[in-house]
Amino acid sequence: MKLIIHGGFFSESQTNQEIKIAKQQALEGIVKLGYKYLQHHTALQTAVYVVALLEDSELFNAGTGSQIQSDGKIRLSASLMDGKSMRFSGVINIEEVKNPICIAEKLLSYDDRVLSGKGAQSFARENGFGYYNPETPQRRKEYEKKLSDSIRLGTVGCVALDAFGNLAAATSTGGKGFEIPGRVSDSATTAGNYANAFAGISCTGVGEDIVSGAVASNIVTRVTDGLSLAAATEKSLDELKPFDGFAGVIGISAAGEIYHADTHPYMVWALYDEGVEVFG
Ligand code: ASP
Repeated sequence: MKLIIHGGFFSESQTNQEIKIAKQQALEGIVKLGYKYLQHHTALQTAVYVVALLEDSELFNAGTGSQIQSDGKIRLSASLMDGKSMRFSGVINIEEVKNPICIAEKLLSYDDRVLSGKGAQSFARENGFGYYNPETPQRRKEYEKKLSDSIRLGTVGCVALDAFGNLAAATSTGGKGFEIPGRVSDSATTAGNYANAFAGISCTGVGEDIVSGAVASNIVTRVTDGLSLAAATEKSLDELKPFDGFAGVIGISAAGEIYHADTHPYMVWALYDEGVEVFG
């Protein structure tokens, strides 16, 4: 059993060590809870559980505490991939819900598995997900200061390998902050979140760069074709260099490899590997 999580790739950590430490401590607590949960649950159930905990932490840009977009509204995106059934589900730009990852989980058993905007919100309400305002005073303050010049990331993600050898990946985001309403993040696409029987990947960074490099699905394909997880990840991140792509990756392979890497060294992450906990 293995578990790796990230708390995003964000500009604050370059300058504000206090925030970085707080995020690392939060990740440390959540990876421990997640690993305990994984003892008695599948990779899929654990990925949802862990991402919901991360969404509930105000420190991260997902669920509660998400970034506010240029029109003053918060829109959330999240996706889930079950490496066993090869099902992908997600919500894109959904408003006024608490845990978008739980709505993605609900969608996994439907024929129509990725919903956006109002359709996603109606589906959520019909399925008992009530009204919730994910805004925090801190995010409103940042928005009012019009910090549009700096991209403030902080997406969350989780990859789990369970006792049965199954992999799952889950990713959730409030976007990159100050975006044009309607902009689609990579987090609810197979470029940002992907898993099969060989590997699972969750990404963070600038969504446009991650989509340009089809990062998560490329890494998984490379592992499926025989590359190690480390080599596949490095190769896929190398492909972002010509356009100075900004991406961070966490992953686990079915062979038991666990790996994280980023194009710029600012991703916060934590992993639990057979009783050994590491974070950075
Ligand atoms: N990838 C997310 C996006 O572009 C942002 C992030 O990872 O923090 O919407």
